[in-house]
Amino acid sequence: MLNPTKPFFSIPSFLRALIQIGKSFFVTSSSAFTFPCQLNRLADLEIDLLKNAEIGGVILDLDNTIVSEDDRYISPGAEAWIKQAKLQGFQFFILSNGKREYRAKAWSNHLDIPIINPARKPFPFAFRQALKSMQLQPKQVVVIGDSRHTDILGAWLVGCPSIQVATLPHPFRWWEKLFGKRVQTPYPCGHELWDNDFFCEV
Ligand SMILES: [Mg+2]
Repeated sequence: MLNPTKPFFSIPSFLRALIQIGKSFFVTSSSAFTFPCQLNRLADLEIDLLKNAEIGGVILDLDNTIVSEDDRYISPGAEAWIKQAKLQGFQFFILSNGKREYRAKAWSNHLDIPIINPARKPFPFAFRQALKSMQLQPKQVVVIGDSRHTDILGAWLVGCPSIQVATLPHPFRWWEKLFGKRVQTPYPCGHELWDNDFFCEV
């Protein structure tokens, strides 16, 4: 029975409901596929699962997915995973919203993967450009990144399946301190973490 002293509808409950709907929508966007939609790190993904799902390409985020944006940490096993996936015939593309173009280019050269920077995710233009370059359909390309509001939303907008990884530790911006946990999954405490030894010279 409704309590007449309490409003039937409140703004916080509405916002909570919206966040829940958004979360379930974007996080389970790849539920039709046989690979997980959330992982701690890239190297936890079994390449065979992508093969079985007839995936031929991977669009990667750079910052806090492969390397922390302050260049302190690298995702454990990520480089070896990329090399292995390339050997098995997967195509790669990096879409980065990073503001330091020289750094994005250096990582693109280091990993030998083409990049679009700034990619202005979640807008679909760069995703479409990457799909065109790989000559693959959206359902054949998985987007892997740490942020729901850029990587996962962008993937959904173009019809690609997506996998969200935990965000590598990095200095948090003001908005990440306030809303970070809504859009990113913190890297688990005590989980293996590698120091990055590839630094970009200006
Ligand atoms: Mg990122």
